[in-house]
Amino acid sequence: MNIAFIGTGYVGLVSGTCLAHLGHQVDFYDRDEILVEKLRRNITPIYEDGLEKLMELNRSAGRARFHAGFDEDIAKAELIFLCVGTPPRPDTGEADLSMLYAAARDLAPFLEGNTTLVLKSTVPVGTNKGISDLMKSLRPDISVPIASNPEFLREGSAVNDFLNADRIVVGVNDDISRDRMIAAYAPWQNEGTKLVITTPQNAELSKYAANAFLATKITFINEIADICEAVGGDVEDVAAMIGMDHRIGPDFLKAGPGYGGSCFPKDTLALAATARKAGCPASLVEATIKANADRKVTIAETIIDSLVTVERAPRVAVFGITFKAGTDDVRDAPGLEIVHRLQRAGAEISIHDPVGRENGSRQITGAIWHDDPVGAATDADAVIVMTEWPEFREIDLENLAARMAGDRLFDLRNLYDAGAARAAGLTYYGVGRGAAGGPLEQIALPLDIGALQEAL
Ligand code: NAD
Repeated sequence: MNIAFIGTGYVGLVSGTCLAHLGHQVDFYDRDEILVEKLRRNITPIYEDGLEKLMELNRSAGRARFHAGFDEDIAKAELIFLCVGTPPRPDTGEADLSMLYAAARDLAPFLEGNTTLVLKSTVPVGTNKGISDLMKSLRPDISVPIASNPEFLREGSAVNDFLNADRIVVGVNDDISRDRMIAAYAPWQNEGTKLVITTPQNAELSKYAANAFLATKITFINEIADICEAVGGDVEDVAAMIGMDHRIGPDFLKAGPGYGGSCFPKDTLALAATARKAGCPASLVEATIKANADRKVTIAETIIDSLVTVERAPRVAVFGITFKAGTDDVRDAPGLEIVHRLQRAGAEISIHDPVGRENGSRQITGAIWHDDPVGAATDADAVIVMTEWPEFREIDLENLAARMAGDRLFDLRNLYDAGAARAAGLTYYGVGRGAAGGPLEQIALPLDIGALQEAL
């Protein structure tokens, strides 16, 4: 099947490469010529585990081709996936659809009537109809059906998530698009994935509902973490125990500095804006947005307060700046806001991130970047662990303490054992660790009573 992708960012490149891997002929289009040139030379512009290898395989098999701007080849595609950005509008928080509408407008003259446009970008309810109306006005001579196919992959595990999705959601109004979408996903290899066909409105809403739910779940466990700190509990243990309840599940129960990234912040804002506009304000989503924003301020203030005794400009080392491990994306990363606040309070910042330097240094000025974490921490008064990169767990805490000028370790990802950090001479601040926890003792039931009685 001939398929085209417009927008070769995190979603377009990963989804298109995976569909090429399933055997389709995929043509990628992006307006960024430098990016397209890199892709043609098999330079992966984003950091995603497994992506580079998959791109190389499909490019050399001739199943993936890259184009800067549209050309007549695009009309051969039965499906054209639109994967351009939909960032928040700074004034209202609504999704800014200008890039989506611009792409659709530019594309319209090339279409010949054999193509379904697929909205893969995250878009508010009603956008499918809006793009359909636009196409009817620009190309009254042909039929251009629109399908909605929101994407649920996570950065950091995007290839794996795409190929092993729990569900693929397709919103369609017409049978031709329905059949085309089923044909696109037909070679799927993972038996656990369900292809769900619904209305465009439901498909659009399901994406925002999923992200708002997950953002709320993270915010909820962060609130429990604060309560643990105040009353003496360990959020790691509490989260493990509530996560054993199948109604709750263990995922997205990791307390930390608050959610960030290119999706949760903008999608919660957009859903809240949609609800306000519709006259039914989403008070729970609004509360989540506020709690998450407040959290970064509180964390920055706690760190600043802990450094008041330092008589010169305090030196703070930051371990990780990406919004999570496994990606080079820093969009809306909590670390950016915290670093900016520390800088405004007069702190000197040194940073190490295994892959986030290029993107991070565009957002943070005046910091010194290091190739290794201990180098960044040398002579620092405080270290902040901002991202849960696995290599940070391996750091020898005694060596770290010896290299630092001060002793404060803000472990915002709970990577370290509090006791071990204190034994190394560090003043340890974890998240939600108001009292020592420890490994939960878990005993499988039913017990062999006879053996137990014998042992007693
Ligand atoms: P991105 O910014 O990484 O990539 C978008 C790409 O679109 C860029 O390369 C840009 O040059 C290109 N583009 C913009 N306008 C264009 C045009 N008119 N013609 C051709 N190319 C154009 O964005 P992303 O992170 O991939 O997100 C894309 C969409 O997918 C957003 O709506 C986002 O909310 C959604 N989404 C993202 C993720 C994620 O993890 N990043 C997950 C699920 C859904």
